[in-house]
Amino acid sequence: MSLVILKLGGSSITKKADNKFEIDYDTLNRSAQEIKSVLEKDTELQLIVVCGVGPFGHTNVTKYDLNHGIETEEQEKGVGITNADCDFVGSETVKALEKVGLKVKLISGYEVCEQKSKKVLSFDIEPYKKALDEKIIPITTGIMVPDEDFKWSPMSGDTVIAQTAKQLSPTKVVMGTDVDGIFTADPKHNPNAKLIEKITNENLGEVLEQCGESASVDVTGGMKGKLEKLAATLNGVPAEIFSLFVEKNLENTLLGKEIKSTKIKL
Ligand code: ADP
Repeated sequence: MSLVILKLGGSSITKKADNKFEIDYDTLNRSAQEIKSVLEKDTELQLIVVCGVGPFGHTNVTKYDLNHGIETEEQEKGVGITNADCDFVGSETVKALEKVGLKVKLISGYEVCEQKSKKVLSFDIEPYKKALDEKIIPITTGIMVPDEDFKWSPMSGDTVIAQTAKQLSPTKVVMGTDVDGIFTADPKHNPNAKLIEKITNENLGEVLEQCGESASVDVTGGMKGKLEKLAATLNGVPAEIFSLFVEKNLENTLLGKEIKSTKIKL
């Protein structure tokens, strides 16, 4: 058996770019088809699906001020609304995968994760193990979780990747997003941004320098931060970042075929 953690990025399965509370059903349903097709071909493959929630999380967290501790009734209400919205993204993903005949289970983050001042205090891996044992694909989204100091705090999809990667040693993490991978600058704002095909400890310094050439100091800092965060999330597990908007990308990468992407091993 080989285990792969698949992230369906918020920028690809929700209308994050337009800041709309809408699911991108075209991308979600096509991804479901591609997952189904891969699992038919590779019966040894097991998946954990992690969904980004885009505006369903970020916009609510900002609107109800949920990032620094929950004190007011309005904030409590905001937590309820946010979690209903994030669970909606999760259950729509469940439906999309069930529609193509896959067995899946939504594990809401607040059932398994507890934080203290926004840092993970505990993360219960048992429900994931149980689901995988039963040949069921577990699905978890970013969401608000109980927090010892803050009552509730946001837990990102990346935290789920970090925890499941650390506790279950997957062979790789594949991250579908709305651009082809990691570029020397934000490709949406800089037409000269170049795709970085491979990032390892050997070329990390060079990559960061490359980013410096085509971007402001600020962006370089951002890129450095992005990569450092990713390295901490992946904890040595190889990863590939690619666009979910390109048909067959997900299927091909899960089958081990070459696609346009950034491959990371830090
Ligand atoms: P997701 O929600 O899919 O997990 P994010 O929104 O966190 O993805 O990241 C993807 C976005 O990051 C892209 O839409 C892109 O505009 C932006 N971005 C900023 N800097 C970079 C960069 N150097 N390389 C690639 N994408 C970048």
